Amino acid sequence: MAYDYDDQNIFAKILRGEIPNSTVAETDHSLAFNDIAPQAPIHVLVIPKGAYVNFDHFAAEASDAEIVDFSRLVSKITQDLGLAPEGNGEGYRLIANSGLNGHQEVPHYHIHILAGRPLGPMLVK
Ligand code: AMP
Repeated sequence: MAYDYDDQNIFAKILRGEIPNSTVAETDHSLAFNDIAPQAPIHVLVIPKGAYVNFDHFAAEASDAEIVDFSRLVSKITQDLGLAPEGNGEGYRLIANSGLNGHQEVPHYHIHILAGRPLGPMLVK
């Protein structure tokens, strides 16, 4: 599979420091920041620092170290924010949009962490 990464996308600009972000956490391979248009009281985006278009690209071509770093950072944030059910948190939802039907707007792989209120059913029919 060939993946076509657009290095002018907004998250690439954030990673290059060309536009600001509200950083929540950072590791060697990943960055987490607050969504600019939050759809819940907590709306954090987690992105790999590598140039990956979407989940499939990341799963196929990221190194094991990048994948572990990313997954563990998502989990660390849910725990640090007191969301994880195992820590008596009220829970959260992870979303990774991809492609047209997934309504992905920014073509740099990211996971949304949404929380802070009841989020309702998974999809509006
Ligand atoms: P998606 O539709 O899954 O690609 O989601 C893209 C998300 O990026 C949306 O929730 C936007 O509100 C968010 N977003 C766009 N520009 C910025 C920015 N400069 N800083 C933080 N979040 C952003």
